[in-house]
Amino acid sequence: MTAQDYYSLLGIPRDASPDDIKAAFRRLARKYHPDVNRDDPKAEEKFKQIGEAYAVLSDPNKRSQYDRYGTVSDMPPGGFDFASGGISELFEMFFGAGAARRTGPRVMDGRDLQVEVTLTLPDVVTGAKKAIDLDRMETCAECNGSGCAAGTSPETCQDCGGSGVIVQVSNTLLGQIRRSSTCRKCEGEGRVIKSPCARCKGAKLEKKHAKLEIDIPAGVDSGTVLHLPYQGDDGINGGRPGDLYVTVRVKEDQRFVRDERGLLTNVELTFAQATLGTELRLAGITEEFSLQIPPGTQPGQEFRVPGQGVPKIGARERGDLRVRVSVVIPRKLTDYQRHLLEQFDKVEQGGNEKRTKGPGFLDQFRESVKKSK
Ligand SMILES: [Zn+2]
Ligand SMILES: [Zn+2]
Repeated sequence: MTAQDYYSLLGIPRDASPDDIKAAFRRLARKYHPDVNRDDPKAEEKFKQIGEAYAVLSDPNKRSQYDRYGTVSDMPPGGFDFASGGISELFEMFFGAGAARRTGPRVMDGRDLQVEVTLTLPDVVTGAKKAIDLDRMETCAECNGSGCAAGTSPETCQDCGGSGVIVQVSNTLLGQIRRSSTCRKCEGEGRVIKSPCARCKGAKLEKKHAKLEIDIPAGVDSGTVLHLPYQGDDGINGGRPGDLYVTVRVKEDQRFVRDERGLLTNVELTFAQATLGTELRLAGITEEFSLQIPPGTQPGQEFRVPGQGVPKIGARERGDLRVRVSVVIPRKLTDYQRHLLEQFDKVEQGGNEKRTKGPGFLDQFRESVKKSK
């Protein structure tokens, strides 16, 4: 900033009192505040110069230095940086906290939205595209978010003169007290919409029904939340759109129970299959696979099938599937079946004794009876 005569900038004589300096600054700061003069690019420069002049002349040391040498030694190069926060601080000093708040179109970010999506277990294993329906606030297509009827624009608020702030001065024993508050008419924006857009009634946003197709990665689980940036409500006056959070629910599957990356299923064998062994063809979630049941398989026994479980999010390898065996005891027999089983039982004679004597089951049973007492 080139050297300026600070006194002439503030329009005051060289012998102005501190009160005169303050009063001059107040008047000019209000007049040239960049927020009130958005159409005048020179206002901000002028405001900075006024601020710099005031910063020097309101400080007795700096003022006497300036009076003697026409400059101030501890001036930062390029002058005071009032643009970054300085303006606000100065303004608040004079017009009260809140007054320096940026007036003019208030930038508001859009709201975040939440939806749920229901998936099946196969969706989870393979990943899926899902259509999502939601209502959200979008920028009004009629006024393009200005809120004004076609051909009109917001007008300067009459109540606050465009500053967005109402200053009340009251005289008290201790002197003048200034109280500033946000202008109610324009809600601090400094401008009011005289003829609102017919479609959004000046709200700048309108409710829209949106259909989105989202990619669900494989491996999600109930409670997983997917984050879709910018898919929430639109912002106002250039604010950032909100985000969309999609909470996943996975429906219970008829055949498989999930345990993180593992799956568990049950397969029923006949007495003969369990006893003699067999090869089964089973339907997994994505493909059929063979499972070798060895002779003498017991009820409750489990077989692990690698790679037939659920993948981790972002990975390809899948967890394992555990196949648990149950043995179905026939409730009805044909005469021939009965005959065969009776033959079988005769051959098995003696085995009964051995089984009932076995320590395992009865001991376990005794233990569990004791414990439950
Ligand atoms: Zn106002
Ligand atoms: Zn509109």
